[in-house]
Amino acid sequence: MKTRSIIEISQKIKKGKATILTAEEISNLVREGEEPSFNDVDVVTTGTCGVMSGTAAIIHVKVGEPGSFKKASKITLNGVPGFPGPCPNEWLGSVDLILYGTSHSINDPNYGGGFLFKDLVMGEEIEIEMESISGKTLKTTTNIEEIGTAQMIGTRLAFKNYTAFVNPSNESVASIFHAINMEGPFKGLSFSGCGELNPLQNDPHMKTLKTGGKVLLAGSEGIILGQGTRSTDLKPNLMISADMHTMDPYLLGGFKTAAGPEVFNSVAAAIPILNEDILKDTFILNKDIKLPIADIRGRHEVLGFTDYASVWDNIMERPVYDQDECENCQSCLVRERCPTGAYEDLVNLETCFGCGMCDYSCPYGAFEIKRGQINFQAGESMVKVPMVCRQSDLKRARKTAEELKNRILNGSFSLI
Ligand code: SF4
Ligand code: SF4
Repeated sequence: MKTRSIIEISQKIKKGKATILTAEEISNLVREGEEPSFNDVDVVTTGTCGVMSGTAAIIHVKVGEPGSFKKASKITLNGVPGFPGPCPNEWLGSVDLILYGTSHSINDPNYGGGFLFKDLVMGEEIEIEMESISGKTLKTTTNIEEIGTAQMIGTRLAFKNYTAFVNPSNESVASIFHAINMEGPFKGLSFSGCGELNPLQNDPHMKTLKTGGKVLLAGSEGIILGQGTRSTDLKPNLMISADMHTMDPYLLGGFKTAAGPEVFNSVAAAIPILNEDILKDTFILNKDIKLPIADIRGRHEVLGFTDYASVWDNIMERPVYDQDECENCQSCLVRERCPTGAYEDLVNLETCFGCGMCDYSCPYGAFEIKRGQINFQAGESMVKVPMVCRQSDLKRARKTAEELKNRILNGSFSLI
């Protein structure tokens, strides 16, 4: 088997002689029957973007003058509760805290940790309210420039094996796996995962994506800390950390679900082609990646299977909005349901996630996104269910994989 070392690849990159392709470029070649050989490719860049509940941040904020309070007992940022500690910072006037991307604001049911992370990274002014152990309340504001430490840690990111969800029952079900209560029986399907572009689909045995490896987390250069929580050989995921100061706010944010606001995040990873087997693993195609379909009420009862070609091929990444079709309803279901708050009078394409809820929700057909329908065998019956909610965003996944490729080529991201 032909092999090369990571140092050889790095030297080739420095000399401008390396060939770097995104995982999608490789898949397209394979689809066209032109499988690249070991000599044709040195690095493959991959990417994924989706709701990633394991996203958290450790930050240190100044709240008052030194000596103004002994220690914090409670703290909120824009109304989102954080967990003070572990360092008590006794009498320093500052607080170390951990924030969850999944925490919900105590003031606004549509705001939470994911939205806060985006606002923070965008440089917005953030309101802080802190209560000390003696009951003293301090209020102040801060922004990312003033915060010395803002380190994101994702405890379970870039999951390889997702499940799609349907509701086979007559009751409607509220879950983080759908933007609104999921109606049944079989009224809609939600899913996550970026298929053939996903990092761990391209390195399923984690031959190159290992502890200490460098990646992009929301566009910021980060490091793989190890395998994420619940990671197994069959269902691997990664624990990753990166500095929030250099994150791209486009690549992370909040995503409203029927069970409250969640957080979406993006990961890009480079796979050095060290041998022919590693290259062959990147030949994976959407049609070959199975997507189990489970009952949203129990999550583990698999009712049938589809594949990623069925959910991602022949779709539109973003909705087209026809203002002439809008009836200016008194209560706009799209405004109410859009998970990222992207629709006001027009669609904000910087905020839009391409989830499809607008196309599904508008009764007058003012939106089109080509969501498609999934047909699957459930026992004896063939079930047809409309695809309603994408909880992953292929457009952002493509952007971050392409960005990583460009950074490697221009020397601003080194593999070692
Ligand atoms: S629901 Fe559709 S038609 Fe009604 S206001 Fe919203 S976008 Fe316009
Ligand atoms: S696809 Fe529609 S509902 Fe989804 S984020 Fe974009 S505008 Fe909002």
